[in-house]
Amino acid sequence: MTPLRLSCKKATALLVAREDRRLALLERLALGVHLRLCDACTRMDGQMRVMQRGLAQWRNYREDESRED
Ligand SMILES: [Zn+2]
Repeated sequence: MTPLRLSCKKATALLVAREDRRLALLERLALGVHLRLCDACTRMDGQMRVMQRGLAQWRNYREDESRED
């Protein structure tokens, strides 16, 4: 088994881990290869990005709201 062939389970775990930490080069490569081959994980990746954007907007909104001066 080459390190660049990920199962969907591992690819998803990396997508989740990417939210919390910077992935190692090999992990990013492996994830990129997997996403090129796998529609399901590509959709998952898209959903994570939408979620991240929503969360960032929500945080900005909260910061605006709590600013008092
Ligand atoms: Zn997959």
